[in-house]
Amino acid sequence: MLFGVTNAPATFMNLMNLVFYDVLDKFVEDFIDDILVYSKSEAEHAEHLRYVLQTLREHRLFAKYSKCLFWLDRIAFLGHMVSGDGISMDPEKIQSTLVERIKAAQAGDSFLQKCRELAVAGLRSEFVVHEDGSLRFGSRICVPEGDVREEILREAHSSPYSIHPRGTKMYKDLKLNFWWRGMKRSVARSVAKCLVCQQVKAEHQCIAGLLQPLLIPEWKW
Ligand SMILES: [Zn+2]
Repeated sequence: MLFGVTNAPATFMNLMNLVFYDVLDKFVEDFIDDILVYSKSEAEHAEHLRYVLQTLREHRLFAKYSKCLFWLDRIAFLGHMVSGDGISMDPEKIQSTLVERIKAAQAGDSFLQKCRELAVAGLRSEFVVHEDGSLRFGSRICVPEGDVREEILREAHSSPYSIHPRGTKMYKDLKLNFWWRGMKRSVARSVAKCLVCQQVKAEHQCIAGLLQPLLIPEWKW
């Protein structure tokens, strides 16, 4: 599949849906290139597997054997654990709360550790050690560089529950609860990197027609 080409995942998803149209939601679920085959009994499962593999062959689609798993009684699928007992959250996805994770990450950040020492010594009054043990900048929790910060940025911008806010709006929302050095800049940078925003938002679209001359600066830069 040519990923990176606009619409390739959607087109592929559509193809998969067409190929498995007859059996979708009966014993097959697919999500882009993941195919899940489920059955009530082993005998039934053999039947279902045969159908799916045969169908793939008929449509000249190939599955990579090393990436396939067969005869499982439970499986993690789309962030959930699916088994004979029903669907439950994938334990790997159940993480300790965000604050706990930030706190753990703070311990590994030398700058924040220094701030903490200064706060404890009463030398930097803007930093406080919160009663839950985390270092705060005023009331805002200090987020060290790394995965947690990236995740916060991602959640605030492009999770299923957010709507790709602009940098200023996103910064305003985030700064209510979080703090790090150069936060405004890193928020702007992460928004600028968002492919969806680049493609969709009007300010990034070029005006059709002749080339536009650059504005002549009126003041030194
Ligand atoms: Zn975006």
